[in-house]
Amino acid sequence: MNFDALKRDDPALAELLANEQRRQAETIDLIASENFCPRSIRQAVGSVLTDKYAEGYPAHRWYGGCAVIDAVEQLAIERGRRLFGAEHINVQPHSGSQANMAVYFAVLEPGATILSMDLAHGGHLTHGKKANFSGRLYRIEHYGVSPETEQIDYDALARQARRVRPHLIIGGASAYPRAIDCARLAEIARGSGARLLVDMAHFAGLVAAGQHPDPAPVADFVTGTTHKTLRGPRGGFVICKSEYAKTIDHAVFPGLQGGPLMHVIAGKAAAFQLAMTEAFRRYQAQVVANARAMADELASLGYRIVSGGTDTHLLLVDLSPKGLAGAQAQAWLGRAGIVANKNAIPFDSRPPVDPSGIRLGTPSVTARGAREADVRRIVRWIHRILAAGDPPAEADAVRPEVLDFCRTLPVPD
Ligand code: PLP
Repeated sequence: MNFDALKRDDPALAELLANEQRRQAETIDLIASENFCPRSIRQAVGSVLTDKYAEGYPAHRWYGGCAVIDAVEQLAIERGRRLFGAEHINVQPHSGSQANMAVYFAVLEPGATILSMDLAHGGHLTHGKKANFSGRLYRIEHYGVSPETEQIDYDALARQARRVRPHLIIGGASAYPRAIDCARLAEIARGSGARLLVDMAHFAGLVAAGQHPDPAPVADFVTGTTHKTLRGPRGGFVICKSEYAKTIDHAVFPGLQGGPLMHVIAGKAAAFQLAMTEAFRRYQAQVVANARAMADELASLGYRIVSGGTDTHLLLVDLSPKGLAGAQAQAWLGRAGIVANKNAIPFDSRPPVDPSGIRLGTPSVTARGAREADVRRIVRWIHRILAAGDPPAEADAVRPEVLDFCRTLPVPD
């Protein structure tokens, strides 16, 4: 990226941004929620649209001068609807968290019951963590994965839903490697008198490319982020049935937000457009194939993969049979330039700050052009480090090979 103006006005900050650009270029990013946003989208996000106030919605703004802005948001809306087969989409939420908040504020009174995935089994903060607004405002009941399969037991969930009678059931998580059975969730919601929200923040890109069942036809609400598998700018969106369109729009503005981030909405429009291409479909198929190859290679080296594998872009590795823990592994791998995150595994006996697992994801490395043989090579580096007598020394030995890999597969333009 050209930082010429920033170098002139704020050299200290320009240097930090250049450092981050170098860090991204010279490391392998295996964080499942991250990706490389194309330069065309970064141009939209870095554009003059950041200067414009546009409270309201297309053709109904509280400010003048919104003709171009209206066209930009309308483009994002039309493309988003087409991409996901949505009856209605609101593209204004600043983040995935705000998208979830909009759904709750639209249909729940404080004290209402939410049935969502246990955070310790992969759920997200906004699905009811005590410290989060969701846990403070609502009565939270959690479902988890089965201890035997480490996958959601939909029959058990159906029984729990009939017992708990929640107002809202949430499907979707941050660290669940399996496809979500959206149709089954919809049936469970109907059977217990609940509404269904599918939070596809993580797997929106897979849905767009037909690699994961589309929740939009079966769920009352679908929330998502544009910056994870979808490979767009950092932001959120809400999809809903037409009957909820007004309520959702009202919950986002004026309920939660003031002026929309029009530069980001332009980036969302561009991301939705790219997500409708054949190249994007091929990319997402490779993301899943790479995650499967990674899980397979790890298993062949004796690692325990939570739930026995993956259907998505991510996998969870239980390091405890190897006598290791997540934080330590994260630090050693980071030293070699392999960036991953420690993660709790279901029924973890260790504390969340130092859990038993690491979470690995393939969206970023696949965006660089990596294929199965490449990710298998990365796994062998991971194993070399984690199995070494002196892991930091082995990480230093692996580092030049990682650098070489990064130069061969540069970050996409
Ligand atoms: N929902 C899920 C399942 C997530 O994994 C995340 C982010 O990790 C979010 C919502 C929130 O997205 P954001 O970080 O944009 O607020």
